[in-house]
Amino acid sequence: MRASRTVLISGASVAGPALALWLHRYGFVPTVVEKAPALRTGGYKVDLRGGAIEICARMGVLDEVRAHSTDMAGGSYVDSRGRTVGELPAEIFGGREEQDDEIMRGDLARILYERTRDDVEYLFGDSVASLTEDEDGVDVVFESGARRRFDLVVGADGLHSHTRRLVFGDERRFKRHLGAYISIFTGPNRLELTRWETYHARPDKLVSVYATAGEHADRAKNCFVFASPAELPYDHRDTAAQKRLLAEAFAADDWEIPRLIADAADADDFYFDSVATVHMDRWSKGRVVLVGDAAHCTSPASGQGTGLALTGAYVLAGELAAAGGDHVTAFEMYEKEMRPGVELNQKFAASFAKEMTVSSRWKIALRMLMVRTLPKTPWKNLIARKIREEIRKAANAVPLKDYTDHAARETL
Ligand SMILES: Cc1cc2nc3c(=O)[nH]c(=O)nc-3n(C[C@H](O)[C@H](O)[C@H](O)COP(=O)(O)OP(=O)(O)OC[C@H]3O[C@@H](n4cnc5c(N)ncnc54)[C@H](O)[C@@H]3O)c2cc1C
Repeated sequence: MRASRTVLISGASVAGPALALWLHRYGFVPTVVEKAPALRTGGYKVDLRGGAIEICARMGVLDEVRAHSTDMAGGSYVDSRGRTVGELPAEIFGGREEQDDEIMRGDLARILYERTRDDVEYLFGDSVASLTEDEDGVDVVFESGARRRFDLVVGADGLHSHTRRLVFGDERRFKRHLGAYISIFTGPNRLELTRWETYHARPDKLVSVYATAGEHADRAKNCFVFASPAELPYDHRDTAAQKRLLAEAFAADDWEIPRLIADAADADDFYFDSVATVHMDRWSKGRVVLVGDAAHCTSPASGQGTGLALTGAYVLAGELAAAGGDHVTAFEMYEKEMRPGVELNQKFAASFAKEMTVSSRWKIALRMLMVRTLPKTPWKNLIARKIREEIRKAANAVPLKDYTDHAARETL
């Protein structure tokens, strides 16, 4: 079998550009196709912990990541009248180890894109229309009408992966709804927050607003979570319908909620999705393979989706290089390395998803009591350590091999 060299990657968010970076370093020729007309900059702040930090260092982007740290100081819960009912400093709140960091998803995507765009072909505003595989490669027809042939195709196109649908079948076979919806968008910094997150809990709902450090300081992120055991019928491409669903879910609520919801109308980075995981028996079929959320979404509840997207890209490219482009061996090794860690994180997500919202007023009151008393208890450090240990396990669940020897000579 001829060794694979050319790779089409569908999706330019986190997994796609990270994979392109590594493939280029190993002497492959990646092309990235992204449906959006330009790099998408929206999204929440995302955690980079353990293995993900190590991978950022190996990619040579860690200093830039650090320079874009959200640098949050902490968070507080407020009641309907805006009075603080509990406050937590960042070291307890984030469960973060010293080397861990947090960055806006859009900043990370931009750093990876800028690091790769001179070496990698990016096709924005296009998408794969069809894939036809034979023994030696894959014929790709794009929505634009262009036709190209690649040795391999990678779906890095997220929870609602188009590549998964084309090659493996309907999303409903793989997606598991964890009982909640999440929406995030940028608005004016109405609460005048600085490196601070303000939470307001209502039965079955949680609203949070935060402003980070740096260039985002004059804007705030509005985040809404609401419980919904059943899946809501809507098209995940229909933003207007999603804005309506969000407004309906919070229609009867006070505090700052009406003003914050109204800001959705002008938001150009509106994000709405179910809190869901993706479970597949295999992440590859023939010459097509999935990476990141497309393969194994762990949901926002895990706090590890972005870390695992970076890890998957690192392992997939490394195994392809180690196997000298033999995709059959590489895809098998990729799954073997990744799967146990992914499953651990998905378990974590399923249990944390239940904690994202609280179902009654008295349970909220109990949680607020805990938030208030925790920083004052003598066991505060013990509890913080226990939380950090759990998170550390999840963040280092995939062992990182050293693939340096396979780097192409000119990129060493
Ligand atoms: C705009 C945006 C905002 C997000 N906000 C949050 C958030 O607030 N909280 C959170 O927990 N997670 C969020 N996520 C998801 C988070 O980025 C992922 O969980 C994680 O980083 C894994 O990344 P990924 O690259 O595997 O997938 P994703 O980040 O989902 O990226 C998939 C990429 O594929 C592109 N794409 C989709 N369909 C096609 C197609 N047919 N052809 C070509 N390209 C396609 C998408 O436009 C996107 O750029 C967001 C994702 C995006 C794209």
